[in-house]
Amino acid sequence: MKRRTFFRSGIAGAAGITMIGNSAFAGSVRPDEGEIVYRTLGRTGLRVPVVSFGVMRSDNSSLVRAAWDGGMKMFDTAHGYMNGRNEEMLGGFFSTVPRESFFVATKVKPAGVDSRTGLPSRETTSEDFLQKFDLSLKRLRIEYVDILYMHSAESVEMVRHREIVKTMLDLKKQGKVRFIGISTHKNEPLVINTMVEDGIWDVVLTSYNYRQTYLDEMNSAIEKAAAAGMGIVAMKTMAGGWLDRERTKPVNAQAALRWVISNPGVHTTIPGITAFDQLETDLKVMRDIVLTDQDKSELVAEAGLPGLYCNACSKCVPGCPNNLPIPELMRAYMYAYGYRNAGMASELLSQTAAGADPCSGCSGCSATCVRGFDLREKISDISRLVNVPYDLIA
Ligand code: SF4
Ligand code: SF4
Repeated sequence: MKRRTFFRSGIAGAAGITMIGNSAFAGSVRPDEGEIVYRTLGRTGLRVPVVSFGVMRSDNSSLVRAAWDGGMKMFDTAHGYMNGRNEEMLGGFFSTVPRESFFVATKVKPAGVDSRTGLPSRETTSEDFLQKFDLSLKRLRIEYVDILYMHSAESVEMVRHREIVKTMLDLKKQGKVRFIGISTHKNEPLVINTMVEDGIWDVVLTSYNYRQTYLDEMNSAIEKAAAAGMGIVAMKTMAGGWLDRERTKPVNAQAALRWVISNPGVHTTIPGITAFDQLETDLKVMRDIVLTDQDKSELVAEAGLPGLYCNACSKCVPGCPNNLPIPELMRAYMYAYGYRNAGMASELLSQTAAGADPCSGCSGCSATCVRGFDLREKISDISRLVNVPYDLIA
């Protein structure tokens, strides 16, 4: 769906949105808080719509403006997304609207963290972290960010990394960051529980969706964190978006998002938005969060299919004699086929250093996936990307 069609659609009309030109926000009528379901992001006190914008894969400022027009308030990016183009695009948009009309969250990934174990190294330094953060501020063209996340922590050692934690607290004291948090999509219950114990974190950004195979632990961690006053933001809400490699069977996006929001401990969500029809669905859910019986039965039917989403439970890893980073390889597979983003897949593959044909020495696969993935087939398939030069696909 193109922007013009989007604005003719029922959502835009119902929200009382008027078309605006390039001259910033003059003339636009953003919806009132009463039309949208808001929650308070824990101890931050930030009032946010239950649906926010996961900007990760979008470089389209018209899409961001349409979301802002439609009442979205929080925009989530990261230092590393699209080699910085993501933050730069957002910076261009932010320079045209009042600073108080949006919240922005960005993430900085500490250097030198082992992608298999999640453990830091001597390269994990404050200097590197600060340098990246300062560049992010410049790209975003703002004086401060509302939330700064440590990007992708998956071990207690990273949650408690003294140098990085001190740097984040210092940035908060200096007013360059209002609130600090951690993003996590592996070992999430452990990370969240550790954050609660430490008591210094304002927000957690965590994977959370109906396809996770350890939902009891997730629900318990979210409940504890919310009770402790932490803001909870959910990502990976669409569980990969598609149930098959050919993209003939989409995840029911509306039902999947409502399922996440039906947990009152979740304060907002950041579905990745790359097209106007996705935005239309997300704006609809932002106003109507009720998970219907039909939504539920569709999710139950989908849950039995393997899909593309690996929830990084690592249950398969002990069965692999080569100790392959299977969760990361499966995530690269999802990026390539679910997101149709070969650049992201290629970047992740290069971080794993698993090589072009990591299963070649195995006569049969002894690793088993709880979701029923054919691991050997998927690994052989996605590993072909290793031999394609990055500049041809990024
Ligand atoms: S086929 Fe690949 S994933 Fe399976 S056990 Fe062998 S190396 Fe591991
Ligand atoms: S491939 Fe399957 S078993 Fe392995 S981490 Fe992913 S979901 Fe878990």
